[in-house]
Amino acid sequence: MKPSTTVKVLDKGFVRLVEFMGGDEAVVSAARVCTGTGSKGEEKDRKLIEYLLTHQHLTPFEHSVFKFHVSCPIFVMRQWIRHRSSSFNEISARYAEVRDEFYVPERWRVQDARNKQSSSHSQAVDDRKCGQILEEAYHRSFTAYRKLIELGAAREMARFVMPVGCYTQFYWTINARNLLHFIGLRADSHAQWEIQRYTEALARFFSQRMPWTWDAYLKKGWTGSNPELDAAKSELVRAA
Ligand SMILES: Cc1cc2nc3c(=O)[nH]c(=O)nc-3n(C[C@H](O)[C@H](O)[C@H](O)COP(=O)(O)OP(=O)(O)OC[C@H]3O[C@@H](n4cnc5c(N)ncnc54)[C@H](O)[C@@H]3O)c2cc1C
Repeated sequence: MKPSTTVKVLDKGFVRLVEFMGGDEAVVSAARVCTGTGSKGEEKDRKLIEYLLTHQHLTPFEHSVFKFHVSCPIFVMRQWIRHRSSSFNEISARYAEVRDEFYVPERWRVQDARNKQSSSHSQAVDDRKCGQILEEAYHRSFTAYRKLIELGAAREMARFVMPVGCYTQFYWTINARNLLHFIGLRADSHAQWEIQRYTEALARFFSQRMPWTWDAYLKKGWTGSNPELDAAKSELVRAA
């Protein structure tokens, strides 16, 4: 069965793979351009990819490129857009009206006791009450937005009232080298829970399109902590 090109993330978001160029073979042929030899069979090619990752010889991975269409809350995109080594085009709230689409988490987290930037799931917080307060605030904001538009305010000004939980969409193009860098930072448990879920979707696309590189990365490059990636790494190490 052909792998799906869209993965749903959070309550209303998604990651869709729009285009992909390259692959494991492109890494191998770029690395062997000096000798003019292409593939030398799976075993040798996989070894070469592992060698490249281990020794930080990373330019051969730049010839494979992913283009994604992403729908995520604005606060997630604010973190995403910090990754400068990639290209973005976002929906313009000056050009089009903002949609009534907001992120409502299923479970609320409490502030982490040790890490000031982090949080953890806990029974101590009332999910239903927190969700209600959030939805009421979203409703008030969107009603104010509509009213401002009706009063004749420009879209670029009416949007001042929109909260960071509002969904936005963008196109994102990134090469395999920088996508691995992104995954290393944003799949890790130190990143915010919501962007971790998006990064897991990106990692699944990566593993489907560049399976040899992905395996080599898990074995030699992944040093973070994430249940999905850790389990895949353990399986690879066990099978070796
Ligand atoms: C858990 C976590 C917490 C964070 N917390 C904060 C925070 O509190 N505040 C905040 O502002 N940011 C925060 N960030 C964002 C972080 O500082 C980086 O901006 C973000 O992770 C992008 O990383 P990057 O610069 O390596 O990636 P990219 O921008 O994609 O760059 C890739 C690589 O290119 C090179 N590079 C790119 N631009 C330059 C440059 N101008 N000079 C030199 N080398 C360059 C570097 O080697 C870099 O690693 C956080 C990130 C994470 C993962």
